[in-house]
Amino acid sequence: MLKGIAASEGIGIGKVMIVEEHSLEYTPKTVTDTAAELARYRDAVDKFCEETTEQADALRKSTGDKEAEILEGHIQMIKDPFMGGEIEKLIEEGGQCAEAALEQMCNMFIEMFSAVDDDVTQQRAADVKDIKSAILAILLGIKVVKISDAPAGTVLVAKEVTPSMTAGINKENIVGIVTETGSQTSHSAILARALEIPAVLSVEKATSTLSSGEQIIVDGSTGDVVTAPSEAEISEYSAKRDAFLREKRELENYRGKKTVSASGEEYELFCNIGTPKDATKAMEADGEGVGLFRTEFLFMDRNALPTEDEQFEAYKQAALVLKGKGLIIRTLDIGGDKDIPYLGLEKEENPFMGFRAIRYCLKNRDLFKSQIKAILRASAFGDIRIMFPLITAVEELRAGKALVEEAKADLRASGIEFNENIPVGVMTETAASGVIAHLLAKEADFFSIGTNDLTGYTMAADRGNSDVAYLYSPFQPSVLIMIKRIIECGKAEGIPVGMCGEAAANPMMIPLLISFGLTEFSVSAPSVLKVRKNIAKWTKDEADKVAEKVMSMATEAEVLDYLKGIV
Ligand code: PEP
Ligand code: MG
Repeated sequence: MLKGIAASEGIGIGKVMIVEEHSLEYTPKTVTDTAAELARYRDAVDKFCEETTEQADALRKSTGDKEAEILEGHIQMIKDPFMGGEIEKLIEEGGQCAEAALEQMCNMFIEMFSAVDDDVTQQRAADVKDIKSAILAILLGIKVVKISDAPAGTVLVAKEVTPSMTAGINKENIVGIVTETGSQTSHSAILARALEIPAVLSVEKATSTLSSGEQIIVDGSTGDVVTAPSEAEISEYSAKRDAFLREKRELENYRGKKTVSASGEEYELFCNIGTPKDATKAMEADGEGVGLFRTEFLFMDRNALPTEDEQFEAYKQAALVLKGKGLIIRTLDIGGDKDIPYLGLEKEENPFMGFRAIRYCLKNRDLFKSQIKAILRASAFGDIRIMFPLITAVEELRAGKALVEEAKADLRASGIEFNENIPVGVMTETAASGVIAHLLAKEADFFSIGTNDLTGYTMAADRGNSDVAYLYSPFQPSVLIMIKRIIECGKAEGIPVGMCGEAAANPMMIPLLISFGLTEFSVSAPSVLKVRKNIAKWTKDEADKVAEKVMSMATEAEVLDYLKGIV
């Protein structure tokens, strides 16, 4: 068995087709008739643009605009004066042959883009490599194997699946993709997901270990590539594949529908996101809003604080994508396991109980106020709500709200628009917030239960510590009591209560949440349809019966035993 990165879900069983890289070697020479050489180069570029446009059109039909735009970007790149213009200069003024001029310029860009440590820029390097190989092949008159001719049941195995290769992929015939390079966010992965072809990337030496014609199984959900599968393995994986496809088809029935229980109660089904880009994914996944925007990404992987404007742009961008749907933005939740080196946080004995999240923000008012102002400014562009993490005392909520009022006054004075009635809520994720939920509910506009931390703080069990993992469960009676209490306290004060911790997507938790009266579920994008389906299974009465039984149980084992038997 070979192992790689699970990049596109599903299971493919088929025969290997190794997509060879052609030797694009040539002998560089100096040309005297530079005009003729320039014409030869331009002809090659024209041919490249023509082929790429055809491929982009095909891709637009099979997958969509976004994927086609990647290829169209190649045309823009080669026509860009900084790239194409410079290549022409090398031929015209330097007397280089077209191949050498193209290679020299492309290599410079590849080196430059590869040196930058971010996925998007690194991807540009892959794009330039793709352009270089395609034009070199045209100049050298090399016929590249046509992936579009691959027979049904083919697993493509290549060093890298380039966008231009992907364009030739016929979805009906290609059952899997295996590459030696790439990550979850590389084009290969994005395109494989868009084409819904199971893919495993970064499998070391795949093209030399595997040979054309041999049968393999690609498990794009686990990252496994099974070589020389036995009969038993083939039937095991076939069953898995059929179950996966059946579930997928069935889940599609829930797309575009409201989230309702079997007895007709409606719920909001939101998504958790970490970047404005994720907002698009949330909408594509059919999320009805965003229940948790973790803003730490804006502060991480950089050397200085983001400015208010930078933050404003990011929040506004997410708001625009959501087109008026609810967007809960959580203020900075750093500290604990989330370090931001340039803030110079001191190492603490007990970081999860230390100087972090709302505690840090209330002591660093400038930083906090600039984030709140950015959120307020973005509130003019959508249904934005502010949420404070790690609240343990009413004073913290009051101090946070006071700062929101100060920020509003500043904006008013500068004549900047914002939503005067922006809701301010509490992330109930500490034991203290559960215990004083009745007090917090009087002063908060909404609650969102963060079960990831609520479980840890209630059980006094670190979520990352495997020695105490047996205690870390949202099905512990103590945690269930907290969840029930928080929802009931919210209900008593008439405020909405959501859940944004992982437990919200757990099929065993869903009947309990329906019974307790949760109003909003916030889950990861891939879970949306599954959660909608699971909510639709329960009537309020049935859920109440389950909850009554569960809340009478004394141990987590009993709870799980019972719930596993009924979902
Ligand atoms: C939580 O604590 O449940 C939560 C959703 O937030 P995070 O995982 O970011 O701490
Ligand atoms: Mg948390």
